[in-house]
Amino acid sequence: MHAKSPYMCPRCQIGHLQRGQATFVTCVDDQLLSIADVAAWTCDICHYREFDAEAIRELELITGAYVSPIEAMRTPPRTANGDVPTTTKATA
Ligand SMILES: [Zn+2]
Repeated sequence: MHAKSPYMCPRCQIGHLQRGQATFVTCVDDQLLSIADVAAWTCDICHYREFDAEAIRELELITGAYVSPIEAMRTPPRTANGDVPTTTKATA
């Protein structure tokens, strides 16, 4: 048995992702949904966390919606006036 997880941490590249459980928080239909004890992988060095893809798939089946953890969501950088900078203009 290997003590170390084969999953290298994508953030710090030093630690390994260890299987465990965490509370999954998401937003479905403008409702905050919190599910405890969801299978997750946590880095033993920087505590970066990813939820197990299988567990997420099960949650999608339960909720009937596409779910993604709030903490992993990133908002793209915007300019000061809130416009998304575009280099090409698409005209339909
Ligand atoms: Zn890490």
